[in-house]
Amino acid sequence: MIADELLKGKKILIMGVANQRSIAWAIAKTFSLAGAELAFSYQDTRFKDKVKKLVDNEMPGALMLPCNVANDDNIKDMAAALKDKWGSLDGIVHSLAYAKKEELDGMFVHTSREGFLMAHEISAFSLAAVSNQLYPIMNEGGSILTLTFQGSERVVPNYNVMGVAKASLEASVRYLAADLGPLGIRVNAVSAGPIRTLSAKGVKDFNRLLDGVEEKTPLRRLADADDVAGTALFLISDLSRAVTGIVVHTDCGYHIMGV
Ligand code: NAD
Repeated sequence: MIADELLKGKKILIMGVANQRSIAWAIAKTFSLAGAELAFSYQDTRFKDKVKKLVDNEMPGALMLPCNVANDDNIKDMAAALKDKWGSLDGIVHSLAYAKKEELDGMFVHTSREGFLMAHEISAFSLAAVSNQLYPIMNEGGSILTLTFQGSERVVPNYNVMGVAKASLEASVRYLAADLGPLGIRVNAVSAGPIRTLSAKGVKDFNRLLDGVEEKTPLRRLADADDVAGTALFLISDLSRAVTGIVVHTDCGYHIMGV
């Protein structure tokens, strides 16, 4: 089903693979089938072996770079390594977020100052920080993509500070799109429906959320990571060359429902 030439000749950085369930991994597999050359960043040494095994199995030889987005030097080193190896790049997939587990349980009103700042730093500011270091080496026609969730627009139980950080992320998409548009670089987000991943496990009662969603979606099913990868393929490719600054819901229609 995938047009195997759609990303031919494109060099794309994938940030946020933790394991085979990661949304970023589904996106990477789809992009690879579409002909892209990929580089992967991983958070730190805890993730390196697992990510390397996945990458070596399916995309041997792909570049792998460490990057903890809480660290400016890590982001700068990653940008320098990409410039050195590739010279320029065409796309970035920013598929990462973090909030302390205790912030994803109970009432938002109890959010700590530290928990608020950390969720925003990792989950929202990092998009601007990474874009800032990488846009100078992006080609005209380049595309930056991030992942969000509808907890940014509506109250989702226990999603709490992450919902507020996702609202900041979505606003960042619009500001970055306005900044980088004159350089021919587009910035968009995919708002994915709930998917069982490592990060999702951190949200209390996440499974209960999944049951409720399935019953209410117009398509009567949950979107999976491959569905999200399809939207990502469109937004990274030249098919979406006139699309920037938007959030595309990929949730089998759940967000249109009233209750
Ligand atoms: P995941 O746990 O597989 O991926 C999250 C990634 O964030 C991991 O690779 C982790 O290493 C990375 N990360 C966390 N802190 C980091 C840091 N300081 N530096 C660098 N990397 C860091 O989970 P996922 O569900 O695939 O999440 C990917 C994105 O999709 C996130 O932005 C998440 O909010 C978003 N999303 C997920 C769902 C869902 O239901 N799973 C729904 C909508 C949006």
